[in-house]
Amino acid sequence: MKFAIIQEQRREAQPGLSGTCPSCKAEVIAKCGSLRVWHWAHRGVRVCDPWWEPETEWHRSWKNEFPADWQEVVHFAQSGEKHIADVKTQSGMIIEFQHSFLKMEEREARELFYRKMVWVVDGRRRKRDVEQLLKCIGRCVWDQPPFILHVTNHAECALLRDWNSSSMPVYFDLGVRQEDGRPIFWRRDPISRNGRTYLTPVSRESFLKVHREGLDAEQQFSEGVSVIVDSLRQNARRAQSQQPPRVQRYFMNSRQGRRF
Ligand SMILES: [Zn+2]
Repeated sequence: MKFAIIQEQRREAQPGLSGTCPSCKAEVIAKCGSLRVWHWAHRGVRVCDPWWEPETEWHRSWKNEFPADWQEVVHFAQSGEKHIADVKTQSGMIIEFQHSFLKMEEREARELFYRKMVWVVDGRRRKRDVEQLLKCIGRCVWDQPPFILHVTNHAECALLRDWNSSSMPVYFDLGVRQEDGRPIFWRRDPISRNGRTYLTPVSRESFLKVHREGLDAEQQFSEGVSVIVDSLRQNARRAQSQQPPRVQRYFMNSRQGRRF
């Protein structure tokens, strides 16, 4: 954990400090070595949140993009179950940064628990993930910003397979492009049709802006994707080249999704 409570204040780990866990209130001690990011750990091997995983630099630097009091927020379900969310924004959106592999059942349990959430996945954990994912991003089927949709074949990509049944938006952080140092960041929409899923290149800045400002753009974006892919399927069925009226109406009547 990045934060513990000392004299009712959230504090970061510093050598020699001890404090209490914001979730279970047990004693935690500062771990300030050179191998891992400085953090707080419960005494002994006790873990109070089974969903918690050791933080990497990657994890920590993403969390640091958000205000400190949005980080490591204890989130309660009505049943009383509680977990520590990586980031909870002012609008109640949970952002979970996932470095390690998650079994499907575990992922589903977290999605069910948080309900309104997005995943940011470290796409560089395994050696071949970046190359494989970029290869699997198929043709662009819609190209009207912000709706740039590429259809993907998840069967040939381990990372996409891992996240294939997710019902939440998943952002793949693939690091930076060698040529120009720009971040490679793709959003997988939960909307899928006939086993096809859709990926959109997103700028890191717009992702951060949307969530720092608490805009409800994720759901609006998915609604847009749904309208587009349904119209594409209708088009294909009718073998017509022009857009069906429904999708035109949608874009005329709304300013949805422009924030991406
Ligand atoms: Zn605890």
